[in-house]
Amino acid sequence: MTITDRYISMLLPSFSSAVEGGAVTQTPFKHGNGWKFPCPFCCEKVTKTSKKKKQCAALIPNGNYSYVFHCCRKKSDECYDNMLFPSFLKTYNPKLFAQYHRSREEAGSTGKGHDLGKYNYFGDNK
Ligand SMILES: [Zn+2]
Repeated sequence: MTITDRYISMLLPSFSSAVEGGAVTQTPFKHGNGWKFPCPFCCEKVTKTSKKKKQCAALIPNGNYSYVFHCCRKKSDECYDNMLFPSFLKTYNPKLFAQYHRSREEAGSTGKGHDLGKYNYFGDNK
């Protein structure tokens, strides 16, 4: 399991609370399995319960050991543009992102050629 997969598995329970029946749907995409769930950014912007539970967002494998967050509703500024997983995590859960960034740094998967910049131990993370 990659670091990214490990962090996604930590996030899934928070997504599943918004899903009727309680489970996030694992869905096959072009480059492998991803997940569909109600968008955590724009759920608040819709009023109907059925719409809140609509699995309009997904983490889609990009074929390069990472995922792209995509929301087809795009009702909030946060979900209007697709984001690579690190940006998604930073927006959704900054605290967990700091941990993730450090794990990636320790594993040597930051910086040039990666989807995440170097971890700055003095703060001011990019
Ligand atoms: Zn959204």
